[in-house]
Amino acid sequence: QIAVVGSVNMDMVFKTPRMPVPGETLMGHSFHQVHGGKGANQAVAAARMGAKVHFVANVGDDLNGQSCVQALVQDGIDVQHVRVMAGSATGVAGILLDDAGENCIVLTTGANALMSTADIDKAGNTIAEAKLLLCQLETPLATVMHAIACARRANVKVVLNPAPAQVLADELLCQVDFLVVNETEAALLSGVAVVDVVTAERAAAALLARGAKVILLTLGALGMWVATPANAYFLAAFEVEVLDTTAAGDTFVGSFAVAMAEGRDVRAACMFAQSAAALAVTKLGAQTSIPYREAVERQLLQ
Ligand code: ADP
Repeated sequence: QIAVVGSVNMDMVFKTPRMPVPGETLMGHSFHQVHGGKGANQAVAAARMGAKVHFVANVGDDLNGQSCVQALVQDGIDVQHVRVMAGSATGVAGILLDDAGENCIVLTTGANALMSTADIDKAGNTIAEAKLLLCQLETPLATVMHAIACARRANVKVVLNPAPAQVLADELLCQVDFLVVNETEAALLSGVAVVDVVTAERAAAALLARGAKVILLTLGALGMWVATPANAYFLAAFEVEVLDTTAAGDTFVGSFAVAMAEGRDVRAACMFAQSAAALAVTKLGAQTSIPYREAVERQLLQ
């Protein structure tokens, strides 16, 4: 079983011919409301890969919160530690997508920002009993650090996806077993601009030197760079037709966690996760695009 500590957001996606300018009202093409938030997305990915998932999160006492929690329950996720915060709003992402493929996003964190170390303590036993803990940075850093400390005390492996990118101390990175970063996060944490496989190798080496045990640096359509104390190597991505890359990273992280919890080696877990992430980019939206295990295994055998 896997414990996920993280965020819940409702994504409000407007498709528009172009971006509006200040003061302008623009007719859009369409609107979709999709369940999102990095924490929730990763929990859903792990659940769809077949793991028993315990999710620790905060939502507001509004319709968005109810809808997001209902979706998690439908995916078979244990929501005992998802707290409904009286008087606060669920996190919302307002997303504009234009015809040129550009996006503009306004995110209000709402109840996610109110997650406390006490919330983590209430879920302490659940975290301690998990095979693996999964965290991101859409909830306060203090709660993430508290959850990681709780996992470490119980010898639970820690997967950290430091997204959105933020400066982190070596003391935190030292406690991370698997650090999953994209180009942006890797660049911020390593000081190396990541533009290709060569710079990815350099950035990953710098991150290893900062104390994280294994670095998984995802490179979008290219694939990923893996660095462990023993070896480092590139893995190519699966070739698919891209529709929307939202939640590719989240699908990767959730699926990787499941494969590791099942005892696969790092390389096999990465290929499993890349297969899942590639399927996610062939569909629109966040949780709507996350595939199920059967399709992931099928693609791996092709
Ligand atoms: P993030 O969404 O966090 O920026 P990436 O874009 O690096 O993450 O994607 C994570 C993983 O998803 C990649 O390592 C790759 O395996 C897969 N992926 C992303 N984009 C594509 C794509 N266009 N085609 C195939 N696989 C992709």
